[in-house]
Amino acid sequence: MTFATAGIHHVTAITSDPQRNLDFYAGVLGLRLVKRTVNFDDPTTYHFYFGDEAGSPGTVITFFVWPGAKRGRPGAGQVGVTSFAIPPRSLGYWIERLIRYHVPYEQPQTRFDDERVIALKDPDGLLLELVAHPAAETRAEWSGGEVAAEHSIRGIHSVTLWEDGHELTSRLLVDSLGFELTREQGSIYRFVAAGRGPASIVDLRLVPGLWSGIMGAGAVHHVAFRASSESEHVAIRGSLAGIGSNITPQMDRQYFRSAYFREPGGVLFEIATDGPGFTLDEPLETLGIELMLPPWLEDRRFEIEALLPDVRLPLKLPGPAG
Ligand code: ZN
Repeated sequence: MTFATAGIHHVTAITSDPQRNLDFYAGVLGLRLVKRTVNFDDPTTYHFYFGDEAGSPGTVITFFVWPGAKRGRPGAGQVGVTSFAIPPRSLGYWIERLIRYHVPYEQPQTRFDDERVIALKDPDGLLLELVAHPAAETRAEWSGGEVAAEHSIRGIHSVTLWEDGHELTSRLLVDSLGFELTREQGSIYRFVAAGRGPASIVDLRLVPGLWSGIMGAGAVHHVAFRASSESEHVAIRGSLAGIGSNITPQMDRQYFRSAYFREPGGVLFEIATDGPGFTLDEPLETLGIELMLPPWLEDRRFEIEALLPDVRLPLKLPGPAG
């Protein structure tokens, strides 16, 4: 093994409604909108990035905004669930908040002895979890959002892959990405990235006989794993190409470098660099307020802005916790 990722970089999913998406992630969940830009492959549609104050790797969920898109179908070969970390003392706060905002959720369940899990759905039907675990206490709060800092979401906890089988995906996670299989419980195999830092957990859940997932609103498009540097990105891309993964060439995503490949179980994986990050083109204090375009689209700004729907931030930005 030549490469060990530090864990999840971001998760990208699909929404059919930009304003409802902003209201839920920046409003109800209290994440920070750290970048308001467009889909570089389709600049007439938004791409929203939500995360902690700076949009640090391991805290970010992003959305391709496909207005009016048909609902996807969760199923095999997808990231079935995206889980966020919260401190254990915040469970009651979050249940009350979900009730107040009419968010469908399930009563907390215990997983692996030390996790208390609230399952919920976003307005597009995307399956999410809030996972209460003591390790969340050590991660940065976000004090400028809609949620009181002490209860704020502390980034991504894990993703759960839904797969027919586990052998080939297990081998890829362990041999090519440096994960370690640490636990098994029922149909869940738990992999943890080297270093065991934040956002380092991938659960592989066996769902034999379940239908295949269909891409659409409320489905995850891909999950990205961290490469610490440009040179590490080149190395891992090369080694994944060498095992016949059909990985794409390196792409410039402005805030990181990317390459994509489909893992053997069918989930689209990305390898993304930690840098340069979201303060590349605007200051930390005002992230997410203005529409940011990459240099190669800047001369089309007038046309692009005319095509994008108007949206407003539901946040008091910046401001005290509420
Ligand atoms: Zn991505």
